[in-house]
Amino acid sequence: MLYFDHNATSPLHPAARQAWLDATERFIGNPSSLHRVGARADAALSEAREKLAAFLGCHALDLVFTSGATESANTVFHHAARTLPPDAEVWLSAIEHPCVIEAARYHFPKRHRLIPVTRDGVVDLDWLAKKLKRARPGLLAVMAVNNETGVIQPTREALALCRAHGIPFFCDAVQAIGKLPAAGLGDCDWASGSAHKFGGPRGVGFLKCPAKGRVAPLLRGGMQEEGRRAGTENVPGVLAMVAALNAREQAARAGAQVSNLRVQFEHQLLKALPGSAIIAAESPRVWNTVLALMPEADCRTRWVVKLDKLGVAVSTGSACASGKEEPSPVLTAMGYSPVEAARALRFSAGWESTEADWHQLLAALVQAHREMQPAPRSRRL
Ligand code: PLP
Repeated sequence: MLYFDHNATSPLHPAARQAWLDATERFIGNPSSLHRVGARADAALSEAREKLAAFLGCHALDLVFTSGATESANTVFHHAARTLPPDAEVWLSAIEHPCVIEAARYHFPKRHRLIPVTRDGVVDLDWLAKKLKRARPGLLAVMAVNNETGVIQPTREALALCRAHGIPFFCDAVQAIGKLPAAGLGDCDWASGSAHKFGGPRGVGFLKCPAKGRVAPLLRGGMQEEGRRAGTENVPGVLAMVAALNAREQAARAGAQVSNLRVQFEHQLLKALPGSAIIAAESPRVWNTVLALMPEADCRTRWVVKLDKLGVAVSTGSACASGKEEPSPVLTAMGYSPVEAARALRFSAGWESTEADWHQLLAALVQAHREMQPAPRSRRL
């Protein structure tokens, strides 16, 4: 199967698998236990925390290991709801992942505001700068890279605006980590990551918290993670996550080369399938993601099923939990109509995807398109 859905989840990197296997054998103790077996597990966890902190550029103790980015985002808004003044608002970009938008909606039902994006899928900094002259939210969230479009967001600039106005800044860095260098993420007050998006195991992630700050824990129980997240730490998962990040950081530095394959594919797609279009074509995007509008009148779920039969795994881009297709909130925020949004397909390559893989994807798309054309009606005599 040709896999072009790495933004959904990516297979375990061999280095992560090895780290996980080693850790399950070597670190069998509970890091909270007082005996030496426990202490060894605790030491391994501390070493992993130091390494992750070095990649992000923060203090090791500012990091909390979680079950993934969904838990991390929920912790941020849970904390904000318990610590901000009762009239404080939270602002977030209109294209955030559901784990950010829904957490904000839940904790701040009437006090969240969506920051608009341009037609090119970039957070509107002019709007933000203007609005911040008159209002001061208690928290502001802008993701690093959008999971549907692959557009790299101006988080540095958003962070600078937040600093100028004394506003805590949260960055969901899930789709950036492993694709772009992680350095600098530690400057954010809050930043989240999920291991399985960059070759680590599922069910493990992290939250970078404000330096020396207290966190109102989402999960209550033991005093693990300095009282910021209760529950026995997933030592093998954390070690595997850090091993995966280590491997990806090297690949991230060679990103420009891989990006050419995406650009080449886009040119070829537009030529091969007249009526197709690349979304956010003019915006800075990560090397692995293409969100395309397929030729008119083709339902995108049909494309996914057809391509699956041809041995290619792709995505519609946005989750469809109910089974009923709603237009993507990301594309809606970018000004696309529901009819246009229904034509969107996402192709997200992996670190090991080759030029031949991209060619095979294109060939499958051309074949799927041909097979989806209505058969010519036979004339009755
Ligand atoms: N944020 C972004 C941008 C994502 O793409 C995802 C997963 O698709 C998440 C957060 C949530 O990650 P997880 O499901 O691992 O908690």
